[in-house]
Amino acid sequence: MNNIKEYIEELTTQILLDNDMLYKVPVNIVKLANNYGIDVYEAELDNKISGAIRYNAENDKFEILVNKNNAEVRQRFTIAHELGHYFLHESILKSSDVHIDTLYRTSSETNITTKEQEKEVDYFAGALLINKMAVEKIISNYSIEEMSEIFGVSSSAMTVRLNILELF
Ligand SMILES: [Zn+2]
Repeated sequence: MNNIKEYIEELTTQILLDNDMLYKVPVNIVKLANNYGIDVYEAELDNKISGAIRYNAENDKFEILVNKNNAEVRQRFTIAHELGHYFLHESILKSSDVHIDTLYRTSSETNITTKEQEKEVDYFAGALLINKMAVEKIISNYSIEEMSEIFGVSSSAMTVRLNILELF
């Protein structure tokens, strides 16, 4: 998955640049989705479901649903995750009605292809919310807890990302 990781680092940086959001943290993830014509709705979902993305062929638009009962940092990660499906798997999404994400899907998923896709998309979400250059700029001044707040992510998401970037 190394090539895809590099690709995702470049893609997410480009997306942030295109939207003038590279060093503006926390990333305004709802506005970012809106910029691509994707509406985001908070919805009353089963507590096992974190979110979903669906394609409406009638108006050729995507929409993201996020579980309104999840904590804000979780919702932000879910929206970033669903955007990952949009940027990486648009054609797959267009061929199915709705893509639903359950909590801990990656670890419980048995289909290898789906599992890989979910891993890629989680990588995308971390890279989009915690840009490499943005984190390198501030890391020496803050603790993990402080950086979690600055980037609007959970401390576990922050820790995973810092490990990936070999900064922690
Ligand atoms: Zn997913």
